[in-house]
Amino acid sequence: MTVNKVENIEERFNELVKKFPILDTHNDFPYNLRVQLHYEFESTKEFNFDSLLTSQTDLVRMREGKIGVQFFSCWIECKEDDMYYQDFNKPNSVVRDTLEQIDVVKRLVDEYSHSFKFVHTADEALKSFRDSETKKISITLGVEGLHQVDLSLAVVRQYYDLGVRYITLTHNCDNPFATAASSVTGGLPDKGLSDYGRDCVKEMNRLGMMVDLSHVSHKTMLDVLEVTQAPVIFSHSSVYSLTKHERNVRDDVLKLVKDNGGVVCINFLPIFLKQPGHDEVTVEDAVDHIKHIVNLIGWDHVGFGSDFDGIPKGPVGLEDVSKYPNLIKKVWGATGATEEDIVKMMGMNVLRVWKECEIVSERMKNKIKPVESNWDQREWIFYEYCREFPELFPGAYKIKEKENIYKDTQKLV
Ligand SMILES: [Zn+2]
Repeated sequence: MTVNKVENIEERFNELVKKFPILDTHNDFPYNLRVQLHYEFESTKEFNFDSLLTSQTDLVRMREGKIGVQFFSCWIECKEDDMYYQDFNKPNSVVRDTLEQIDVVKRLVDEYSHSFKFVHTADEALKSFRDSETKKISITLGVEGLHQVDLSLAVVRQYYDLGVRYITLTHNCDNPFATAASSVTGGLPDKGLSDYGRDCVKEMNRLGMMVDLSHVSHKTMLDVLEVTQAPVIFSHSSVYSLTKHERNVRDDVLKLVKDNGGVVCINFLPIFLKQPGHDEVTVEDAVDHIKHIVNLIGWDHVGFGSDFDGIPKGPVGLEDVSKYPNLIKKVWGATGATEEDIVKMMGMNVLRVWKECEIVSERMKNKIKPVESNWDQREWIFYEYCREFPELFPGAYKIKEKENIYKDTQKLV
């Protein structure tokens, strides 16, 4: 491939970022507020997001990095020490903990509203960035794993209402919906997407919630790409053929992503970028991963999902949120891309996918009602006294009787 020499990259880049946002689909900063401050950032006087922090994300470096749209990840870990657990009925606190993550991002946006705006649509994300003359960063949310909805599509709907715009189908554990890449690495079978998972993808499509395939198994990727009615994202995944890690995206999947219209946002975690023979992982490795996607399926399917503040250390030249310009200029020089292609990679691809998901949602909402499906192995446990409550209509108690478990009546004192 001959590479056209690009003149004046520096100047042209500075012009481009006035009109087009740099977008990152995955930043784990909220989790550090959870672990280190128990979310008490307002009352911790040492914490000022508008000054240089020692982590990888703060407003000073977000401005320097010209970030225009940020998805903050509301990640909560899987709930068992044994990551291969399959007992999904066990009650846990993951929904509460996810709500705390959502809450802390919203409070951060309010506290630093001179530089942040919480947005709900792709158009609003772009408009706010442009109307503020790049002064305001558009903020939205992702949830990292369907274990975070516990067992319920109702929670998926409520997360959407709270402003979450993508859900990753798994984290590092299987759930009733799908199989995780890490389980397959651990020796468990790759069952792909379950029937309940299919219902969930349909409901996410109906809501306009982007389906995120980072962390899922190879078969889950293939199954989803067969059933989804909207384009998918990989919120933080790199390329398997350069770095053979089960979390990375194989070429057969990349080709299907092209047909699907989706986008793969490159993860900066060094273990997902390290190539054989390279002693040290640098920004050049990220450039190679981007080039591989572009050569295989074109410029419409690539973006950034840094994983900053969810990784111990970034590659050399990609250490923190100030470094996106470094990566973009290096990709530009190495590929001789057009400005149109560069802005797609910077963020317009993800905004296009987000918008297409909204359009699919509008179309589906006219045709189908909220999906009422429940997981077929869910335990429904009630007390005996419930059976004495008035019946909805003759025979109503019989409908689910076989699935219900009735325990002895609670002793009321
Ligand atoms: Zn992750």
